[in-house]
Amino acid sequence: MAKRQVIEPLSNGLNIDLAIEAASLHKNRLARRLLWLNLACYVLLSGTELAIGYWTQAAALLADGQNNLTGILSATLLLVGLHYAKLPRDTFHLEGHWQYEVLAVFLSGLLMVLVGLSCIWSAGWQTWQVLSAGRESLNLLASLTAGFSGGLLVIEALINAYQGRRLQDSALLASARDYFSDAITSGVTMVAITLAWLTHWYLIDTLTALGLGAYICWNGGQILSQSATKLSNGFAPSKQQQIVVLLAQHPAIQRVIYVNGRYVGDNLVLDIAVVVAPELTVQATDQLRVQLEAQLAHQWSILYCCVEFRAS
Ligand SMILES: [Zn+2]
Repeated sequence: MAKRQVIEPLSNGLNIDLAIEAASLHKNRLARRLLWLNLACYVLLSGTELAIGYWTQAAALLADGQNNLTGILSATLLLVGLHYAKLPRDTFHLEGHWQYEVLAVFLSGLLMVLVGLSCIWSAGWQTWQVLSAGRESLNLLASLTAGFSGGLLVIEALINAYQGRRLQDSALLASARDYFSDAITSGVTMVAITLAWLTHWYLIDTLTALGLGAYICWNGGQILSQSATKLSNGFAPSKQQQIVVLLAQHPAIQRVIYVNGRYVGDNLVLDIAVVVAPELTVQATDQLRVQLEAQLAHQWSILYCCVEFRAS
């Protein structure tokens, strides 16, 4: 009778660093808590801005309100992503579900780009209207709304950036980036509407909205490209080199053949092949592996690593 091989991911055959796993889970919980606050904040802001924007017909305020509307969508996306990311390892996902967070960040970046394009489209249309009709009705209330929104967003941006840096969490850092760009757009909106209202040169308002659209696209593109790099298993050669240098310092290692890394959520998974003396026993190489892993874990946040030993 053939011996049946059973893979046991739940007994941690991959040798996943349980401390890192627990830390990521803790981070996930804190990040989700903050995202609920973000969500509430965006609902308040975009609702107010869109209502006053439609009422006062201020193009820049409408663009800003739309921008904050994406905040709601991206906070929701990140919450869903973080919910899946926290699920425990299973037979289908041997290393856990951490990539769901990166996937959510990627989608929120994509969303930002799409909203930026929609802002450009509507601002372009309003610019044409101003050029053909010559005027736009503006109200100083629009400017005050934008100012209020900018102030609140700066506070939220600072909270997210502080927590994101403290926890090294990419979802929070992405939302902090989102907030900073939103705070800037609100600030610019306020200035533009006030200027347009004072000078009666309404193109200031619509052209600002165009600029804001371009800025939102650019920012979304940055988030998109960073998360796409992670999702496509990209790993900076400079980091590879640092790890090679560290490994090569060990006296038992004759040569490092390759180091391949990829990000799983915010943690690293490493694939390493090294050349050792052919007479080393399996027990000795196993001890060496444990030593190397401890050394690497000292400097990087590593979920797990696979070390392959080759004889010289
Ligand atoms: Zn699964």
